[in-house]
Amino acid sequence: MQSKRPSLARVHPASETTWQQQYRDSITRIDTLCNALELHANELSISQTAERQFPLRVPWSYVGRMQKSNPHDPLLLQVLPHALEEQEAAGYGPDPVGDLASVKSPGLLKKYHGRALLLATSRCAVHCRFCFRRHFPYALQNPRGDAWRSALDEITADSSIEEIILSGGDPLVLADHELAQLVRHLQAIPHLRRLRVHTRLPVVIPARINGELLDWINASELGIVVVLHVNHPRELDHELQERLRTLSAARCRVLNQSVLLQNVNDDPDTLVALSERLFDSGVLPYYLHLLDKVQGAMHFDVDEPTACAIMKEVAARLPGYLVPRLVREQAGEPGKTPVQF
Ligand SMILES: *Cc1c(COP(=O)(O)O)cnc(C)c1O
Ligand code: SF4
Repeated sequence: MQSKRPSLARVHPASETTWQQQYRDSITRIDTLCNALELHANELSISQTAERQFPLRVPWSYVGRMQKSNPHDPLLLQVLPHALEEQEAAGYGPDPVGDLASVKSPGLLKKYHGRALLLATSRCAVHCRFCFRRHFPYALQNPRGDAWRSALDEITADSSIEEIILSGGDPLVLADHELAQLVRHLQAIPHLRRLRVHTRLPVVIPARINGELLDWINASELGIVVVLHVNHPRELDHELQERLRTLSAARCRVLNQSVLLQNVNDDPDTLVALSERLFDSGVLPYYLHLLDKVQGAMHFDVDEPTACAIMKEVAARLPGYLVPRLVREQAGEPGKTPVQF
């Protein structure tokens, strides 16, 4: 597979719509989504309250990978404002992983040992219903407000930080020239070794992996790690796989993290297929997260004994390097907590 060198030219005909255009054209209306999928709104338990709180947003490319006339499609369930989001339960809150307690300067969070999170933007190409930052007060956390200055000063002053993790929102919403400039500022800080990008944008708009992105990645003096968020094997269609091969041939490591989601990927067959397809795209599975207990997402939760039973079977069927680490994020801990299965 690796013998044929992937080339962007093959997968990026000039006539194609740019990712920026696809980002702007995203579906934000339930009736548009229903029409595209040949579904009636009354077949879906939609909640207006959930929609108001965290609006629908999904690019056409991602909708193109959903099955028509299937109200239970695992891709659809990830973006649909569902009546079950109105449920409330003890243990579910607006800030399940203690983000607000770790803010150092606007948009800069220090939660993990040696690593700092930079919330590069509040925007995303897709609104995932299970998002643990769906209630995050982004308006108060804009590190670009002063052209990154206070965040960069804070990082420069703290030599224990070796890795910057661009998070958000989705950092790849930013233009490549902006990202390239940020990388130039960051690589001038002597104690920084690595830059990590956590993103779901290329998953929902594969055209985001383009020449400009590969250019700044290849030019970076920092070690670059891209962590994708793919949850289901059907998200990895032909175009995304082709583009991921070009990304994994660039000067970066490409890993994937998923969230274990009820009725989306909570069975061994789906997770095995996901790992296989990631590998075929040049991507290694990294984490499988238990759901962060964010208010509005409890219908996605898979309890720990069930998760362990699923992972036992996955591990029995795959080579070790294709088995993601089952983890949970616990507020106040210096890293992820592994879950033994
Ligand atoms: C866990 C997590 C991190 C940090 O990951 P490590 O690999 O444990 O350093 C960064 N960003 C997001 C969104 C995460 O969930
Ligand atoms: S792309 Fe990531 S940050 Fe954005 S809504 Fe989805 S899970 Fe949340």
